[in-house]
Amino acid sequence: MSGTVASSFRGAERLGRIKPSPSTAAAARVRELKAAGRRILDLTVGEPDFDTPDHIKLAAIAAIQAGETKYTPVNGTPRLRQAILGALRRTHGIEYSDAEIAVGGGGKQVIFLALMATVDPGDEVLIPAPYWVSYPDMVRANEGTPVIVQTSAESGYKLTAEQLEAAITDRTTWLILNSPGNPSGAIHTPDELEALAAVLRRHPAVSVLSDEIYSEISFTGSPAPSLAAVAPDLRHRVLVVSGVSKSYAMTGWRLGYAAGDPVLVGAINTLQSQTSSCPSSISQAAAAAALDGPQDFLAESVPVYRERRDAAVAGLAAVDGLTPLVPDGAFYLYVDCAALIGRTTPDGRVLGSDEDVTLHLLDHAGVAVIQGSAYGRSPFFRISFATDIDTITSAIDAIAEAVGDLR
Ligand code: PMP
Repeated sequence: MSGTVASSFRGAERLGRIKPSPSTAAAARVRELKAAGRRILDLTVGEPDFDTPDHIKLAAIAAIQAGETKYTPVNGTPRLRQAILGALRRTHGIEYSDAEIAVGGGGKQVIFLALMATVDPGDEVLIPAPYWVSYPDMVRANEGTPVIVQTSAESGYKLTAEQLEAAITDRTTWLILNSPGNPSGAIHTPDELEALAAVLRRHPAVSVLSDEIYSEISFTGSPAPSLAAVAPDLRHRVLVVSGVSKSYAMTGWRLGYAAGDPVLVGAINTLQSQTSSCPSSISQAAAAAALDGPQDFLAESVPVYRERRDAAVAGLAAVDGLTPLVPDGAFYLYVDCAALIGRTTPDGRVLGSDEDVTLHLLDHAGVAVIQGSAYGRSPFFRISFATDIDTITSAIDAIAEAVGDLR
């Protein structure tokens, strides 16, 4: 058997600190059930179900045909940088310069490089929970210490100024702020950002990694506000990270960017020059077309997400024992399932954790969701509404039935 071949592989110490992006018990169970021929309604997906708009695909094809198939500058083609500067101007009214822009293979890679460029062993990175699963491991991979700050229902699961003040130590290097948040969908208002800014002004050594990848998937009528725009005096301490994956349904193109302090951006670019040299030239051409071309796709897709959100919230809120947070942006619903803990399944198992709830929904409803423990806040589960409305409504009916069967 191939699995028995002896390996002399010895992982570096840093490898032992991290795990692959969550391959949970539920994910393994989804694969098992699907392999056994069972139909599973999958609400775990973290990417838009829409196709990349045609004008973006055509821009990529044109780039290939025009011979734009070579290395580009490490900080992207001049065309892409201009498009990024234009997008930041349009969404936040901020004027950045060329030297303040870094690009990479997705927002994820840019965040990783930003941490690699700045975090020394023992440096602390504040991560409000619930958080995107990758932050703590990205900090650990770079030998930093993730410091998880629990938020509360009263603040809509958003970090407050008091919590920030209490969490900062003389080792704090970064605060990671993700608005709209994955998995909460919470958006920080300008007043809430200003309250955080007031704390940050007292702690000049702390920088803010503002992950704004979902900023344009907002149900408030305007893009989620950025700390960099709300507190212009802190602009050089805020690294704005964004990309085209979510807004333009371009997850597979792998193109993200950051805007911030030119010295930090220079460091990110140095690391980029020694890792991938530059993101794909073709994806850069596509991303430029996405950012500075017609914006109809956003105008069309955001109302669709909003309708699905409303249907999902209404359906789940009607289930005794479930309390969905109403997201202001992104395409996830974070559902409080505390009332289900301690209930018993028809086959006699007592639900002791959100992982148990997730497995019950999978086995008895055929619905795949992700347990809150993956996001650092339990007992919750996350559903994605980046899938068609029929799947969402069928899944919620099935969830209601499986919850109704608990005793
Ligand atoms: N930040 C958050 C909060 C995300 O949910 C994701 C994607 N799951 C990313 C960053 C990274 O997106 P990408 O690398 O595709 O730009």
